[in-house]
Amino acid sequence: TIILGIESSCDDTSAAVIKDGFLLSSVIASQAVHEAYGGVVPELASRAHQQNIVPVVHEALKRAGVTKEELSAVAFTRGPGLMGSLLVGVSFAKGFARALGIPMVEVNHLQGHVMAHFIKEPDGENVQPSLPFICLLVSGGNSQIIRVNAYNDMEVLGQTIDDAAGEAIDKCSKVMGLGYPGGPIIDKLARQGNPNAYTFSKPHIPGYNYSFSGLKTSFLYSLKEWVKEDPDFVEHHKTDLAASLEKTIVDILMDKLRKVVKDTGIKEVAVAGGVSANNGLRNAFREHAKKYGWNIFIPKFGYTTDNAAMIAITGYYKFLDKDFCTIDKPAYSRVTIK
Ligand code: ATP
Ligand code: FE
Repeated sequence: TIILGIESSCDDTSAAVIKDGFLLSSVIASQAVHEAYGGVVPELASRAHQQNIVPVVHEALKRAGVTKEELSAVAFTRGPGLMGSLLVGVSFAKGFARALGIPMVEVNHLQGHVMAHFIKEPDGENVQPSLPFICLLVSGGNSQIIRVNAYNDMEVLGQTIDDAAGEAIDKCSKVMGLGYPGGPIIDKLARQGNPNAYTFSKPHIPGYNYSFSGLKTSFLYSLKEWVKEDPDFVEHHKTDLAASLEKTIVDILMDKLRKVVKDTGIKEVAVAGGVSANNGLRNAFREHAKKYGWNIFIPKFGYTTDNAAMIAITGYYKFLDKDFCTIDKPAYSRVTIK
């Protein structure tokens, strides 16, 4: 079984080929055009996808050493994401599958992030979480704690009631005048800073839900005060600011996750999504594994942010279940995991 996966939900155009669960190739074209605007400009993203999609698919097939006639199915991200971006991948996938006379498989992008843990590599160790497991999904648009019962049975136990963790990091980074996206920049600066230099307010939300908008406001107002006294405050203290911000976010994330693990008794714990590339969060996972006996799963860096390998692997499992989709299914911009 050979699956071509296509991902175009935000600002990365990506294609990947998976054979019997093993990754043969993964190609990602990132869009630099948005950097100047400090965020993704939907219309520009859509246009860039339009330019990238054919060469990216071509390259993925070439690197995999697979011809299009050998494909069993085309899997694509149907949503959630930016409509103009999704449309490019969805339309391409449908046309391509139709032309080849093979089935198409729709994939939920968030389910894809979680399923990144099931991508097998020809030369890898390929350790996978066993079911059921708890997954912390932290990305640019979502912060959720999910109970994964099966690849197609995911229960959202808690989620953010306002901003996502990645969104909060990106916004704080923007306020500091650093580049976009802020996640990797904050991560790098944080490594050289003191995480206990500053404290920012943490939310008091009952249950397993998150909230990050208060932190963002607290960060913004504190910064304004400090800059009043020293106009070069950010320049002088950016490593400490980054480290303290990162620590606050990681603490908030881990506090609720610990609660879920304790209450469910499920010690099989994974992390997924773009923010799972964060070294502070990865270290917190390792510490929890040691301290609480968790069996942890941290994805390779390449599988944290958006990629088509996670779409192809989800498509592979759906293909085995003959869970195909018809050509009339439109893209969707909002919808959580199912
Ligand atoms: P969603 O998956 O919810 O639709 P998305 O696809 O835009 O949103 P991802 O691509 O999964 O999100 O993740 C992007 C986010 O991850 C951005 O907010 C980015 O700043 C953050 N991020 C990436 N690398 C790091 C890092 N090293 N540390 C912290 N955050 C990071
Ligand atoms: Fe994503």
